[in-house]
Amino acid sequence: MASAPIIVLANAEIRDEFIMEGMQRLRRGASAGDVAEFIACAVEDDPEEHTVGYGGWPNILGEVELDASFMDGATLRAGAVAGLKGFRHPISVARQVMLRLPHVLLAGEGAARFAIEIGAERRDMLSPEARAAWQQRIAEVVQHEEEDAITLTVRALVERRGSDTMNVIVRDGVGDICSAVSTSGIAWKYPGRVGDSPLIGAGNYCANRYGAATCMGLGEAAIRVGAAAQAVMLMRLGWSLEAAGREVVCQLSTLLGESNAADHMRRADWVRILLMDAAGNVGAFATRPGLSYKVQTADDPWPITREVVCPA
Ligand code: ASP
Repeated sequence: MASAPIIVLANAEIRDEFIMEGMQRLRRGASAGDVAEFIACAVEDDPEEHTVGYGGWPNILGEVELDASFMDGATLRAGAVAGLKGFRHPISVARQVMLRLPHVLLAGEGAARFAIEIGAERRDMLSPEARAAWQQRIAEVVQHEEEDAITLTVRALVERRGSDTMNVIVRDGVGDICSAVSTSGIAWKYPGRVGDSPLIGAGNYCANRYGAATCMGLGEAAIRVGAAAQAVMLMRLGWSLEAAGREVVCQLSTLLGESNAADHMRRADWVRILLMDAAGNVGAFATRPGLSYKVQTADDPWPITREVVCPA
């Protein structure tokens, strides 16, 4: 029997060196789960990535609230954290939720308590650069001192900053697939806002038998469409990766078009979905053109950047 294709599929914002190191580990026999966690941790430490881990943009109060999820395609087990503050590697905490608890998702104080109990490393995740950007944005949107967080969030979000949530889908030499997503969410969000990234089925879904999907962009849209699970379920029903990706993105485009007129989502926004099918074919689809993604197989010396399909 031919060996399964070994693949790392990632969003284009992830540095080549992280993907290449992950591929080296896969070639040496590392599991998809360990490599997905390794790449996610590297991105969480990267201060240049302003929508992930350390250096991520804070909420409207200047607090960095992190969301992450991890899914194992062999068992359909999953773990996630939402609104985690003050820990270096949300993705590792999410994976431990999967491994140690009979739960899938921990939020806020409970997630922090669990992180302490497992000995997760603490870190102040607000970088000086992110603090300065937040202070500047606050100065731009505050009109009266007594304004509440609702008013400030709605005003601050009219102009959206950054969208480079960490998405990685890894397939190892025995054919197991794992997916990991990590983000600080939307910059200047209302405190406690949870996006699609920690929600299994919305921003992340993975099943060896059918494929995997992860999302980036406006989480509210991915949640409302159930984007990741829907794409995988379409492949389960026999749709090709291409047809599934196009269908989900068409639904997202319709929703975004309608939502741009609505009060709570006045900004033109977008979603990108990365897909891998059970055979290891990959692709990415988005509601707007001009986006890209990266893929490296065991035969490639480095990741190849490809353009995302925008069905329009
Ligand atoms: N999807 C993320 C969220 O809505 C944000 C992003 O991709 O930048 O939290």
